[in-house]
Amino acid sequence: MTDAVADAAGYLAEGFKELIWPTRCVGCDLPGTLLCEECEAALPRIDPDQACPHCGAAHGVILCTECDPAKPNGGFPFQGARAFGRFEGALASMLVLYKDEGEKRLAPIIARLLAITAGSDWRS
Ligand SMILES: [Zn+2]
Ligand SMILES: [Zn+2]
Repeated sequence: MTDAVADAAGYLAEGFKELIWPTRCVGCDLPGTLLCEECEAALPRIDPDQACPHCGAAHGVILCTECDPAKPNGGFPFQGARAFGRFEGALASMLVLYKDEGEKRLAPIIARLLAITAGSDWRS
């Protein structure tokens, strides 16, 4: 198969998938995008400076109730974690679609959100 034929086949396959499963925003069903600007701006983010230092949960800068203060790293086998946001709304929909329903086109969006969360100061 030549590159041109492969490109055309890929284009047709994408067009067919778009016809059967049209691209829609995970938050508001806006056509043509997987996550629109408005829904991304409204995602339930967690401020890492106001989160549990071990698991990243949004419970303030002290250990949350899930972490064990008597154990190193709160009982986790890692030094710390950060969470982008709470599992609710469009963020929950996005993660369920990605993990349970195989919508792998969300991977670059999720990766970008995780990179934002990690920030340039995240070294652990
Ligand atoms: Zn939207
Ligand atoms: Zn915690």
